[in-house]
Amino acid sequence: MQKIKLHKKGPKLSKLIYGAWRLSEDKNSTDTDVIIKKIKTCLDIGITSFDHSDIYGDYSCEEIFGNAIQKDKSISKKIEIISKCGIMLLSNKKIQTRLKHYDSSIHHIITSTEESLKKLHVEKIDLLLLHRPDPISNPEEIAKAFEKLGASGKVLHFGVSNYLPHQFETLQKYVGFPLCTNQIEINPLRVTPFLDGSLDQCLQYKIKPLAWSPFAGGRIFTDNDERTVAVRNVLQKIAEREKTNLESVILKWLTFSPHGILPIIGTNRTERILALKDFESIQLDRQDWFEIYSASRGREVE
Ligand code: NAP
Repeated sequence: MQKIKLHKKGPKLSKLIYGAWRLSEDKNSTDTDVIIKKIKTCLDIGITSFDHSDIYGDYSCEEIFGNAIQKDKSISKKIEIISKCGIMLLSNKKIQTRLKHYDSSIHHIITSTEESLKKLHVEKIDLLLLHRPDPISNPEEIAKAFEKLGASGKVLHFGVSNYLPHQFETLQKYVGFPLCTNQIEINPLRVTPFLDGSLDQCLQYKIKPLAWSPFAGGRIFTDNDERTVAVRNVLQKIAEREKTNLESVILKWLTFSPHGILPIIGTNRTERILALKDFESIQLDRQDWFEIYSASRGREVE
């Protein structure tokens, strides 16, 4: 699988990324060997980049992953680590937190990242993202936090997640180096980023977006509302023609446009990871792309 540079000064990540959000939902998540097997399955098909956040699994997923790569020392050298910070969850592990909120203070960004490094058992994070735009964020403070983490070598590159174009633009004015990505939700049931300027902005800044929940968190396969069924029928038709699965068609659709979208998959099942290995060889044309897009929007283009 090809590796993609998010920006000319950014990190090189695998074209597909594995997301660790649901790791703790696996009933075998306490079995380190099961996690090692999952990571190695990703590596086998060329997925070398892993997406984390301090909060995933009620602050447990980084540790689950870190324990695995500490046990199998051959893994660390082969992977890139993405993590995020900025959301404060209501959790028994965070007794100071009275309600869910955002914290983009310099203190939180630095302490959260240092905690992530410890839990993940790595010396550096390849890409650190602010998880959500914070309505009371101070961009000067964020810039200082990024500079400190960069200067100490604890984080190599920075970006954001779930930012609207104007929020990205504002922060970029304060940060003295390029924000390398915006991680946003894009899938055939959420085509808004093609319309709201988010993807145009990636072209403008010559950065590559990361797409979270490429399968709409599984809803694309299970929901039975009219729109989802219409989208699924188109995916099914193309999958049958291409002799492949729906998941691979979705990944091809996501990576078809010139934005260079990198999807972050979240399945816990190794057989589902393996089933994606040939998605790039699917033949999709412009009209296939629009058939999925139009089914999602419930109408043909104007
Ligand atoms: P996803 O790949 O769209 O969804 C994964 C879910 O779909 C799993 O529960 C999986 O179940 C299910 N699934 C997959 N294939 C299926 C099938 N054929 N039939 C039925 N169910 C199926 O991605 P996601 O887990 O929602 O998100 C991926 C990653 O994006 C996360 O791990 C995280 O790293 C990132 N993320 C970021 C944000 C953000 O705000 N930045 C938000 C959400 C997620 P099985 O495990 O049983 O296969």
